[in-house]
Amino acid sequence: MHLFRFDGGRIGLTIDGASYDITEPLGIDLGAWPPVQMVALIADFEKRTQGITRHPRCRQIDMARVRLEVAIEWPNKLIAFPVNYVKHGEEMKSKSRADLSGFFLKANSSLSGPSDPIVLPEYPGREIHHECELGIVIGKKGRNVSREQAFEYIFGYACLIDVSLRGPEERVMRKSFDSFTPFGPWITTADEVPGPGSLQAKLWVNDELRQNANTRDLIVDIPGMIEVSSKVATLFPGDIIATGTPEGVGPIKRGDRVRIAIEHVGEMTVQVK
Ligand code: MN
Repeated sequence: MHLFRFDGGRIGLTIDGASYDITEPLGIDLGAWPPVQMVALIADFEKRTQGITRHPRCRQIDMARVRLEVAIEWPNKLIAFPVNYVKHGEEMKSKSRADLSGFFLKANSSLSGPSDPIVLPEYPGREIHHECELGIVIGKKGRNVSREQAFEYIFGYACLIDVSLRGPEERVMRKSFDSFTPFGPWITTADEVPGPGSLQAKLWVNDELRQNANTRDLIVDIPGMIEVSSKVATLFPGDIIATGTPEGVGPIKRGDRVRIAIEHVGEMTVQVK
């Protein structure tokens, strides 16, 4: 299944190639603040979506006619692993590595959707880079989750671009500008992603292939990231983990088009403004 947000916070679901607006059957209040409806839905997903396509107020939609928005707007946290591929560590001449440095956090408000542009801040003379990453979506609350149990805590996956201003400031600041975490185009539920440990992930800038790598080359693998992060912080439904970028990062500039595609997960193209 694909789970997504569209047209002003509506919630949609794609099952067997057909897409549905499930906002009304779920009783979603589009004006509610804070916008945590998707987080609440993920926490109770099976129960709330059981038989939902047969609900009288469920209607089928044409994906070509909707404007997709960021699938999770207000997670409890957005965890990110730095330098999680050996070759990316080499290209950055970085001393840090995910197995030594652990994780950092990005501001949740940096999340943006597949139809939203990446808006570059003014930093004359500085490079702002794309980082192509697999995003993990947590499905249930957990603390001290073992490697063996890790996959039980994963709800699904999405494409994620970890946009990064290069330079001396704290990493959390350089990566937390609004729109610096395009995420989407939807969440693909874990049952539809066979072998998340061997997914090909690609990123193009204006049709030039810049990044092309496989999650089998992760230094800290997917169960390892769940184990390490849940040893520190309770994971909650809807939390997002950015799994780190492979080699091939490079600058983006205004007017560019950035396309990310991850096998079995999805594909999206965002503009740079
Ligand atoms: Mn990154």
